[in-house]
Amino acid sequence: MTHLHRNCPICGADNRSKAQSRYSKGEWVIKECSGCSFVYLENPPPYSDLEENFAWEKTFAKESDRRRKKNPVLYWISSKNKQFKANYLKRNKLQYLLRSLRVRGKVLEVGCAGGHYLKALDEGCVPFGIEISKQLAKMAEEAVAGRGGKVINSSSLDGLAHFKEGTFDCIIMSAYLEHEIQPREVLKEAGRVLKPKGRLIIKVPNFNSINRVIRDRNWCGFRYPDHVNYFTPRSLKEVLKGAGLSIEKFGIQDRMPTSDNMWLVAARPGR
Ligand SMILES: [Zn+2]
Repeated sequence: MTHLHRNCPICGADNRSKAQSRYSKGEWVIKECSGCSFVYLENPPPYSDLEENFAWEKTFAKESDRRRKKNPVLYWISSKNKQFKANYLKRNKLQYLLRSLRVRGKVLEVGCAGGHYLKALDEGCVPFGIEISKQLAKMAEEAVAGRGGKVINSSSLDGLAHFKEGTFDCIIMSAYLEHEIQPREVLKEAGRVLKPKGRLIIKVPNFNSINRVIRDRNWCGFRYPDHVNYFTPRSLKEVLKGAGLSIEKFGIQDRMPTSDNMWLVAARPGR
């Protein structure tokens, strides 16, 4: 197994001499940064492994299976609860944001998986996607076929490099940034390819959620080695500002501690 070494993706501190945190598991080393206390996976597999071996759809299935066997009742309740929320609340949150922000034109989803969000975009939008898993990228390509956009099968940084400055009206990163080994670099690139005042919509797990505090190591947000960044509201704002983006919408309703996830709307500054 190949491992990379990462410095803290938020402040750049090298924590290799620091003891690992109790959230580490097996060969996967989780560190809490001595500089900024950000929690992250220090030794992720390289991107090339994500194309096939660690494609999230596989580890997700494996992890669900493990949870189901370990505690079937709790798993059942939690999955029902998740279904309910997914069906009635969360599925609509992205739609709600896109509509209330009146998003039109070229819309890029970074980490677009099988393209279900891209497919659901309103008619006034031209969907583009970047996806590292070959299988999922192929599905997404089919989902957006005929609408004028395209799906690139590559890492996000390589994919973003395909686009000229100021190309997109909106970029979506939903359940993506927690997987990204170089979040700051990707966010900078996202800023470059956005039009001035173009929006970036982000959904990530909230490490400060009550669920994480209570369930601690058993929190559903821990996935090894898929999740490499454990953002809190503070570190999320910090990494965005560091990438030169401005924060447009991140109210208390977008980062409720009772939810496992948080939503944020950033923008490329401009006239
Ligand atoms: Zn740090």
